[in-house]
Amino acid sequence: MRKSHRVVTGLAAIAVGSVLIMAADSAPKPLTYVTADRMVDVIGGGYISSPAILIEGERIIRVGTTRDLAPPKDARVIALPGMTLLPGLIDMHVHLTSDAKVHGYAGLEASVPDSAIEGVKNARTTLMAGFTTVRNVGAPSYTDVALRKAINGGKIEGPRIAAAGEPLGATGGHCDKNLLPAEYEQTSKSVADGPWALVAKVRRQAKYGADLIKICATGGVLSKGDSVGGQQLDPEEFAAIVTAAHRLGMKVAAHAHGTEGIKAALIAGVDTIEHASLIDDEGIKIAKAKGAALSMDIYNDDYILGEGAKVGILPESLEKERMIGQAQRDSFARGVKAGVKMIFGTDAGVYPHGDNARQFAYMVKYGMTPIQAIRAATVNAAEMLGTVKGAGSADVGQIAPGRFGDIIGVSGDPLNDVRALETVNVVIKGGVQVKGPPTL
Ligand SMILES: [Zn+2]
Repeated sequence: MRKSHRVVTGLAAIAVGSVLIMAADSAPKPLTYVTADRMVDVIGGGYISSPAILIEGERIIRVGTTRDLAPPKDARVIALPGMTLLPGLIDMHVHLTSDAKVHGYAGLEASVPDSAIEGVKNARTTLMAGFTTVRNVGAPSYTDVALRKAINGGKIEGPRIAAAGEPLGATGGHCDKNLLPAEYEQTSKSVADGPWALVAKVRRQAKYGADLIKICATGGVLSKGDSVGGQQLDPEEFAAIVTAAHRLGMKVAAHAHGTEGIKAALIAGVDTIEHASLIDDEGIKIAKAKGAALSMDIYNDDYILGEGAKVGILPESLEKERMIGQAQRDSFARGVKAGVKMIFGTDAGVYPHGDNARQFAYMVKYGMTPIQAIRAATVNAAEMLGTVKGAGSADVGQIAPGRFGDIIGVSGDPLNDVRALETVNVVIKGGVQVKGPPTL
């Protein structure tokens, strides 16, 4: 139903450009007309004053200014004086079902239902922080798929979700469960060894509703017993995963801190590198040539080192973070300078949900202009979503006809001080105001 309507709307938009039309095949949908002081033009890079946005049902149909676009007489008006509008923000690396206060052995107490309930709470917190779309890159037993279903079905409040389901990896690697001794035989269901076994895991993700594939290419900070920089999959395994995923129309996000694992994953054709902490200049060059994007969680280090010991992060994990934290920020600066594609990914869930926007200031500190950081969380993030259920590349990331009416309002000057995004006053998702002062 939703799909057929989307096709019709798309065709109509191609046929008539930005002219206001009603979809011929459906009952009239409510019209919403949004105005504010100004809007960040994420493509042009400046402000547009007195914007006016017309939304039909969930999707934007016209964008102009209050001078050239008047409210239709039956439209609901959301007038936001004093506000600066931006597209709803996108965080490309979150774990909605994780509690930032529970790490290490305490995590063993969380059941799958516990995680699902945690996800309900965090989904709302994330939406209220202005993030109207997230890519969830790792959740137990498809709890992220269940969250996506409940949010899209209108049962709970939350962002649009591109769900990775369970992350794939090697036995004993970052995506396995390594806390208990052998007699407990605790193993992740999405861990396998060898190309064909991993192809089966890719297909299993698709079967249970994942939108994309997350793999663990190298060791990690929070996993017990592995080396953070060590490569954990072989070239044949990377190639098999990427081929199987792309055949199913799924993008591949590769967790990778280590220099060689990053390059091997990129050569095999993964779409995004998560963390990319120890990427070298050759890795940056390969990412650019392949059109891959880096999703670097450069705020997270402050939380892990500041709060980690109190929230149960293992001493060996803290040691690993001390090894790579600053190195990752320096790699980020090199990547920005080299012009590699960067998307906004924070690893929320390791640190508290809702604080996602704190990363913007770090991105500016390490070389981006505010508009570059904003693009990483809007138009550029959307580009790397691909085709997913409910929040694909063409659906989000811009305030433009055809996209969802996902809009946020802030009272500051984000193009001068990106920290303005840490306080989001208004959130509109799919044309419905879910946060902010009551308007007309
Ligand atoms: Zn993560």
